[in-house]
Amino acid sequence: MSIQQDNRFQAIISHAKEYGFVFPSSEIYDGLSAVYDYGPYGSELKKNIRDYWWRSMTQMHDNIVGIDAAIFMHPTTWKASGHVDNFSDPMIDNKDSKKRYRVDHLLEAKADQLRESGQANEADTLLAEMDRLLAAEDFTGLKQLMNDQKIVCSVSGTANWTDIRQFNLMFSTQLGSVAEDADTIYLRPETAQGIFVNFLNVQKTARMKIPFGIAQTGKAFRNEIVARQFIFRMREFEQMEMQFFVRPGTQMEWYNYWKDARLKWHTSLGIPAEKYRYHDHVKLAHYADAALDIEYEFPFGFKEVEGIHSRTDFDLKSHQEYSKKKQQYFDADVDPSTGKPYGNYIPYVVETSIGLDRMFLLVLSHAYEEETITKEDGTSDNRVVMRIPAKIAPNKLAILPLMKKDGLPEIAKQLLDECKPHFKCFYEEKDAIGKRYRRQDAIGTPFCVTIDHQTKEDGTVTIRHRDSMKQERVHLSEIKSMVLTALT
Ligand code: ATP
Repeated sequence: MSIQQDNRFQAIISHAKEYGFVFPSSEIYDGLSAVYDYGPYGSELKKNIRDYWWRSMTQMHDNIVGIDAAIFMHPTTWKASGHVDNFSDPMIDNKDSKKRYRVDHLLEAKADQLRESGQANEADTLLAEMDRLLAAEDFTGLKQLMNDQKIVCSVSGTANWTDIRQFNLMFSTQLGSVAEDADTIYLRPETAQGIFVNFLNVQKTARMKIPFGIAQTGKAFRNEIVARQFIFRMREFEQMEMQFFVRPGTQMEWYNYWKDARLKWHTSLGIPAEKYRYHDHVKLAHYADAALDIEYEFPFGFKEVEGIHSRTDFDLKSHQEYSKKKQQYFDADVDPSTGKPYGNYIPYVVETSIGLDRMFLLVLSHAYEEETITKEDGTSDNRVVMRIPAKIAPNKLAILPLMKKDGLPEIAKQLLDECKPHFKCFYEEKDAIGKRYRRQDAIGTPFCVTIDHQTKEDGTVTIRHRDSMKQERVHLSEIKSMVLTALT
């Protein structure tokens, strides 16, 4: 990351804390590594992103329904899903600093350095070699690659490394009060399995016909090895996942459909398409026959925000084997090649999986801007503005009586009462108007309305647009519909 990008990233982190978006967890005890809490504006923004996703899945698709499964699941779930045996990353420890790293992260950081110094081809070759070795699980080869690249620990500065080993990322805990009888259970590392084990419950009760999807949002937990990545990589985070069940053989068609549909969802928020790119996986997970990441250009480079995975029938088949309960669907549609119904089969699955916290960081990264403004008198001023898309902004409208007297607050409160059943408003009487505007810019409120003495005479107010800072005089009765229009 260049110094400039690093400064911008650090500025976003400070801003997020100062303006009540994100706090380090249990900060009075010095925080907990890679765990964060969301503040008043952060929790609103996060909820709005979640709702925007949820609506796009369950409201805009009549063949997708939602569920809300428990975080704890029967331990065999994770045996069947492959997580007990396979959910691990190759790690390496530096013997001098005792710091542990993910091998792919060290090599990726090296590739970033090469790219920054103008050696883009070398960076690509390095990543291709890394992918090949990871796919072959060739740990000796990976360690050799680290040696060849002269990778050292950023703390000790040495290359005194242990061998590479696999570490499982699942957190375990005990269910039951007596230690001897207690079962080891896991905090779910993904929400998807809650969908798979409920596949038939949902299909039958909601009378779904293939192709159909099941959507879910919720917490997931991974014992990640992390370094200074803020909410990009957390130990407790939230996922928004959708499993789309399809007829075997049609999965690539749906994979391409969702690849396209999901990118459209991102750009529908007004985030520029050129900030995104697809990254096809070379090393496929044990369950996938195709997979790609949707990457966004964060201040620290292009990184994954969402995964699209063609998961075959791996999960349902495996749950059928372990549970001894059939996970089949009866397809009454006629197969034109045989003239008979397709009959019973285990559906194939295309998954879309996005991290809510990562999407939140994406929105902050897109929105944050330090701006110098030239005023009418020729002097200049600075402002930090969060250009958060209006649809997901924490507050939609700030209602600001110019003075705390002369009946202005009463008019303002009437407007507040009219608008607050429809969208989130913010009301404030204190401080000079310029200062109040700046505070709303800093939390990303798209509109501010000022009530002044003229309002009393002709019922008009000043509405100020956050991004352009343009102000216009409109009638009070138009405010609600102006804001609602911006939210659709
Ligand atoms: P990465 O390669 O970054 O570790 P992954 O490929 O393991 O991610 P998936 O298992 O595909 O991620 O999870 C789907 C989505 O969940 C990711 O695209 C990401 O947005 C989010 N996610 C995964 N791990 C974390 C984490 N530790 N913190 C925050 N979000 C995460």
